[in-house]
Amino acid sequence: MSDKITIIIPCYNEQETIPIFVEEMDKVYAEMRKKYSIRMEYLFVDDGSKDKTLKVLKEYSEKYPHISYITFSRNFGKEAGMFAGLENADGDYVVIIDADLQDPPELIEEMYSTIKNSDYDCVASRRVDRKGESKIRSFFARSFYKIMSKISKTNIVDGARDFRMMSRPMVDAIVSLREYNRFSKGIFQWVGFNTKWLEFENRNRVAGTTKWSFFGLLVYAIDGIIAFSTVPLALSSIIGIIFCCISFILLLIFFIRALIWGDPVSGWPSLVCIICFTSGFILLCNGITGLYVSKIYSEVKNRPQYVIREYKKCKDDSENTESN
Ligand code: UDP
Ligand code: MG
Repeated sequence: MSDKITIIIPCYNEQETIPIFVEEMDKVYAEMRKKYSIRMEYLFVDDGSKDKTLKVLKEYSEKYPHISYITFSRNFGKEAGMFAGLENADGDYVVIIDADLQDPPELIEEMYSTIKNSDYDCVASRRVDRKGESKIRSFFARSFYKIMSKISKTNIVDGARDFRMMSRPMVDAIVSLREYNRFSKGIFQWVGFNTKWLEFENRNRVAGTTKWSFFGLLVYAIDGIIAFSTVPLALSSIIGIIFCCISFILLLIFFIRALIWGDPVSGWPSLVCIICFTSGFILLCNGITGLYVSKIYSEVKNRPQYVIREYKKCKDDSENTESN
């Protein structure tokens, strides 16, 4: 029996990149078919695109027997796109790859040969540099990975991409995690399994523009921290205790001082500063707790990750094998 590889491609406004992607991916597929007995399915997940992405996908799925697509009722975000792909992928091996060719499809062959000929359940990729990215974005990204490695037990590798090949048991394990606030980079690590890392140099998008604003990335980073660490909560309690101790000591000092020297009404500005500082700090701690509470709220509502408007499965696998 030949192995089936499902390639999941989350797409949001990727009308220009899809044709280039399919061309490049087909080259890799053709090469791999010469060497291995495999079948591939490209499963595009259209994340509520506003451009002609869906039209392009419809055309391609009519034209090619190995192309399927899922389209959402609105934009749910890349995490939801990847999850929908993983839930609906039926391959023995599953690959997640971006549509913009920032993840080199040529690596898929190496991923497959590694996973087949070794004990690994996952072959993942990481960028070794951040060429072409703005300095500020790189700085914040690096800081995020550093902070994350300190405050979370789940080690998230710097430069790790979502681009990876996974075995069926690993995919099943990921899909079994039903949390609403998904942070896949953490989930991949959390489920365990042996992972081999392939390194590659950063590439720019072939067409179109990035969907991530600085603010969007910041929210993503905060989501990641909240999903995989409770250290911010502990930290706010610890600092709260420190403040209590300091205020108790100050109280004693002022009390004794008043007993000895009386109570001259002075020190108003410093008092205001202390009040401002502590009340600001209390609000910050409240905010941190609030973030966790809001995540709990969205978890208990138990809403689905995504809503499918249309799912077009590629023509059946036997046909797929014949016509390729
Ligand atoms: N993407 C998505 N939904 C979104 C945003 C992005 O499915 O809401 C897809 C996008 O089409 C691309 C991948 O996620 O295939 C990575 O997005 P992008 O290239 O914009 O991110 P960057 O590489 O700049 O981090
Ligand atoms: Mg990209």
